[in-house]
Amino acid sequence: MAFCINCGQMQADGTRFCRFCGGQQPGEQLIARLRMEAEAIRYQLQQMQAQQAQQAQQMNYGQQQNQQQRW
Ligand SMILES: [Zn+2]
Repeated sequence: MAFCINCGQMQADGTRFCRFCGGQQPGEQLIARLRMEAEAIRYQLQQMQAQQAQQAQQMNYGQQQNQQQRW
């Protein structure tokens, strides 16, 4: 089951052009590729967030050490 990306009408699977508005529908290959790209972006974001959290922890740790040395 698919829906037109243009007008939202229900489409038969594998339809390339909407029978209501004539809008071209994304093929399954395109959808699969977009899904993969979205996954890759999500993965990169997770990696970045993990790195940032690690850096923040290291910075906090470094500041604590400096304070200990100062006293
Ligand atoms: Zn349509």
